[in-house]
Formats: sequence, C-alpha cells, structure tokens
Amino acid sequence: MRRLLIAGNWKMHKTVGEAIELVRELKNLVSDVTDRDILVCPPFTALYPVSQELRGSNIDLGAQNMFYELEGAFTGEISPLMLKDVGCSYVILGHSERRHIFGETDELINKKVLSALENGLIPILCVGETLEDRESGKTKEVVERQIKEGLKGISSEEFVIAYEPVWAIGTGRTATPEQAQEVHEFIRSIIEGMFSKNVADRVRILYGGSVKPNNAADLLAMPDIDGALVGGASLKADSFSKIVKFD
Ligand code: 13P
Repeated sequence: MRRLLIAGNWKMHKTVGEAIELVRELKNLVSDVTDRDILVCPPFTALYPVSQELRGSNIDLGAQNMFYELEGAFTGEISPLMLKDVGCSYVILGHSERRHIFGETDELINKKVLSALENGLIPILCVGETLEDRESGKTKEVVERQIKEGLKGISSEEFVIAYEPVWAIGTGRTATPEQAQEVHEFIRSIIEGMFSKNVADRVRILYGGSVKPNNAADLLAMPDIDGALVGGASLKADSFSKIVKFD
C-alpha cells in the first residue's frame, strides 16, 4: 500500500519570522499523525530556520526548485548539496510556474531530476496541462511527454509525481475527483510502461490545484491519488492541518 504524502508548497510567501510561526503551530496540530507523510516546502531563505524548528518532528522539509550543478559560477542558483545541507529531503521540480513564468523546458527539468536523485533528494516532478491543452483534447499527450522527458535516463525509483492541471492552480477551480483520477491512472500506466508494474504500484502520484479542507477527502478517496500538493491552503496551519488530517 502506498503511504499518503501531504505536501505544502508555500511558493513565494513567508519571511523567516512568519515561516517559524507557521511551522510551530503546524507541528503541534499534526504531532499525532503517524500514518501519512507530511512535507513543507518553504522559500529558500526560510529553509534553514524551518529545518531547525522541525527537528524531531514528523514533518519533512523540501525545496521548491534547484539547479542541477553542484557548485560554480551560476549566479542566483541553489545546488542540491546546499539543499541537503539545510535538511531538505525533497525538491519540487518542473512546477507549472517554473515552466510557464520562467520558461523551464522538459530538458532542463530532466537534468534537475537526474541531479536530485544522484544527490539523494527525492524529486517531486510536476506535470499538468493548460486549459487550452485540455479543451483541445491534448491532456494525455502533454502529460505523457512531461513524464517521459522528465524521467528520462533515471535509474532510481525514489521519485514522486504531482499532477497539477494548470487551470486548477490558484483559481479555486479544482479538478473533479473523477477528472483527476483519470489522469492519475494514466500516469501510473506510463510509469509501468517506462519501468515496471512494481515501480508503478509504489510510486506516489499527488494531486495539486486548489486543494482545500473541504475537497481533500473526495480527491484523496480516489484509488490513484496518493496525496496532495497544496499551495494557498498550506499557508495557514489551521487549513493545512485539516487537509493533512482529512478522513
Ligand atoms: P493552489 O493550491 O494555491 O491552487 O496551488 C497549487 C500548487 O501549485 C501547488 O504546487
């Protein structure tokens, strides 16, 4: 059975002080949770102080992006070694905001995925179609390309996929559980084709896009939805803890 993973992507929110306040509150609210994994992904500047605050807790730490080189003249970039150094175990890669606002390509994202795995970080590879893709019937084609290109050449099976339809991110317009399940099932079949049934059965596929306390349970009840990648609702301990503790 796959263990649920509920992850918060804080995006470009929270100063150090605000980040510490949020995780202090969150730690208390979810300290009794043992049957699922909990992850927070603060902005780079808050990673170290948050990692200190999370010591000994049941919450893991992840970053929202990284560069694939280990060090060097790459002004403004952060390496996997730096993320490990501050206590990260996961890194979100290929988020739709990276793809669409910052022009990240499947090729670049693949280099990042390979580097994350080589350096002991678990990549959360984000994929998802735009509204235009969906309306022109291209959802599966787009998602298949993003998965195949993003995971090209990997030899480790320690990865997580997040399906985030671009039209559902930050819009309050969630995919229905059935719409999400259809794509999750499709993603699992691609993973089976690329790797094996065993890998496909074990890989966790998260849903992201306007997940809130009032829709989490219905989404997470679907057989191929193994967790959530939560944006806006992860910025408050109260709403994120409700999603974590959905039943
Ligand atoms: P929202 O939950 O704010 O729609 O964001 C989803 C997301 O992009 C998580 O990575």
